[in-house]
Amino acid sequence: MKPQKSSQKDTCQQPQQVQASKQLYQQACNLLPGGVNSPVRAFGAVGGVPRFMKKAKGCRVIDQDDNEYIDYLASWGPMILGHCHESVSVAVARAAQRGLSFGTPTKLEVRMAELVCAAFDSIEMVRFVNSGTEATTSAIRLARGITGRDKILKVAGGYHGHVDALLVQAGSGLITFGLPSSAGVPKSVTADTVVIPYNDPEAAKAAFSQCGEQLACLLIEPIAGNMGVVQPQSGYLQTLRQLCDKHSVLLIFDEVITGFRVAMGGAQQLYGVSADLTCLGKIIGGGLPVGAYGGSRKLMEHLAPLGPVYQAGTLSGNPLATTAGIATVEALTEPGLYDRLEELSASLAQGLKSAAAQAGVQITINRVGSMMTVFFNADPVMNYQDAMRSDTAAYAKFFHAMLQRGVYIPPAQFEAMFVSAAHQKDDIDQTIATAEIAFTIDL
Ligand SMILES: *Cc1c(COP(=O)(O)O)cnc(C)c1O
Repeated sequence: MKPQKSSQKDTCQQPQQVQASKQLYQQACNLLPGGVNSPVRAFGAVGGVPRFMKKAKGCRVIDQDDNEYIDYLASWGPMILGHCHESVSVAVARAAQRGLSFGTPTKLEVRMAELVCAAFDSIEMVRFVNSGTEATTSAIRLARGITGRDKILKVAGGYHGHVDALLVQAGSGLITFGLPSSAGVPKSVTADTVVIPYNDPEAAKAAFSQCGEQLACLLIEPIAGNMGVVQPQSGYLQTLRQLCDKHSVLLIFDEVITGFRVAMGGAQQLYGVSADLTCLGKIIGGGLPVGAYGGSRKLMEHLAPLGPVYQAGTLSGNPLATTAGIATVEALTEPGLYDRLEELSASLAQGLKSAAAQAGVQITINRVGSMMTVFFNADPVMNYQDAMRSDTAAYAKFFHAMLQRGVYIPPAQFEAMFVSAAHQKDDIDQTIATAEIAFTIDL
């Protein structure tokens, strides 16, 4: 792209000081594989020094060199209220005084379950676990246990955590690092995994007519978030619902990102399509490690101790995590909160679009509520293949241009950025002004 004059004054005169992050990263690389505990954090897709964060407040995160950033990573989704939300932080601190873990049932789990069941029409009973990965792993086991069938259907570019059987054409870090699937997963484990393209009803119909009677479940992110954000085409989810009903296959929605993000009741509420089982995570932990899966009483009663499907967890329903989840979900019931998120997110998307157009950079923004992806792609992005045609090198440059100027977007093209309730109009405006400059920087 040709650099053009921006109306904005560039405040970035000197390169950012990242000495402390750099030094920590060197130490970390000696001690942790890649210096990180989750691959995309290592900046492999964008290069440069991963920023080591030390604290955060509201919509801002601060690194070890005291650089401050407007945060659109939101810890990959959980921080919908922003960081250190008063009621969440206070509740967690108090809970810590009462005990960190009991290994017994608690009142908190009952309350959290009430909140989840109230938010989702399709959930009458829920089981809490410790991560999204655990939720999807367990939901698949439950589906197989209920149906007595082994095969599972997933979508190319869908990511459901690092579940062995699902690390086939998976999204998120696997796309970023160009891995068709992970080493260490035996062929026998993925032999029962069938993959279809997203947003392609015909491919779904073909798969169901081929092996519908052998399928335990179709597991899908109703709004794809891990090939970058891709919304379902009109009627697509309804078609999947019908196919599942026709072939007695359980429809599992992985709403680990979308649950409580696009609406209290997730994508199911937004599109009016019910799942048989729903996987949750991220927001329901309010920043602490939590996952959950739920569905009708009839389905969930197949779980031990009531039924034959075993699944357990030493720290499941942990009082701190549950407290953070309760405080977060309760705060989300504030009237108008989702409308405000929509408004802010719409103005951010519009502003980014204009900024790119002004700079002559071709992008496509996919957005549902407060989750969005800026694809460096001139064409519409409707599935994994489309997403793959994005200019990841341009994304990397844009990422660094933004980072240098105090805006933290996800360090890879195929991820979602999130607006939180702590973002204000000023933060959005500042982000757009920054983007006006960033888009002109030799992309
Ligand atoms: C993040 C994510 C997961 C995995 O959750 P973890 O807590 O990282 O194990 C599963 N599904 C989706 C859609 C996700 O975005």
